[in-house]
Amino acid sequence: DDIRPKIEQHIREVKDFPKKGINFRDIMPLFTNPQLVNELCVVIADHVRHTVGHVDSVAGLEARGFLFGPQVAIQLGVPFVPIRKKGKLPGATIEAAYIKEYGEDRVEIQQGSIKTGDTVFLIDDLLATGGTLRAASDLVVKAGGKVGEAFVIIELAPLNGRAKLPDIKLTSLISYD
Ligand code: IMP
Repeated sequence: DDIRPKIEQHIREVKDFPKKGINFRDIMPLFTNPQLVNELCVVIADHVRHTVGHVDSVAGLEARGFLFGPQVAIQLGVPFVPIRKKGKLPGATIEAAYIKEYGEDRVEIQQGSIKTGDTVFLIDDLLATGGTLRAASDLVVKAGGKVGEAFVIIELAPLNGRAKLPDIKLTSLISYD
């Protein structure tokens, strides 16, 4: 059966957050339903097995990619790689920059967490303008890996984040117009 309507029921729309004019999609209500969270992570892992094939790791984006990434990685029996905002990870790191509304931001991984030739499954909660996944994808390539697929639960289609990711396969569970 299709998990989509069940997930949609748990996504809250918050108008004017974090500022006026922005229609925020809040995925946190999903976590009031642990069984559904588990079902979703099993569905995503099955999707990886059947559609993406072998992956060496699952990389999740801070912060809400961390809610799903480790669970999918556990299902697949592969390592989880945290992709974090600059300055959060100890030790040697590799970074990639991206443009935000005001200025530039950076994401990082720990050196050695992605190896040359690795196929990485990227996951985040939501695709908006695509800047975050663009940087994450660049980071994977910089580390010598390749993106097997980028996956988001929610895609905000009018923001056209897909246009920033022409070179990677991108899958969304739910797309809002
Ligand atoms: P992008 O880089 O513009 O695609 O923004 C995507 C990133 O911002 C993701 O890491 C999301 O978690 C976060 N984000 C942007 N808009 C929303 C929203 O409406 N709800 C939840 N997270 C959002």
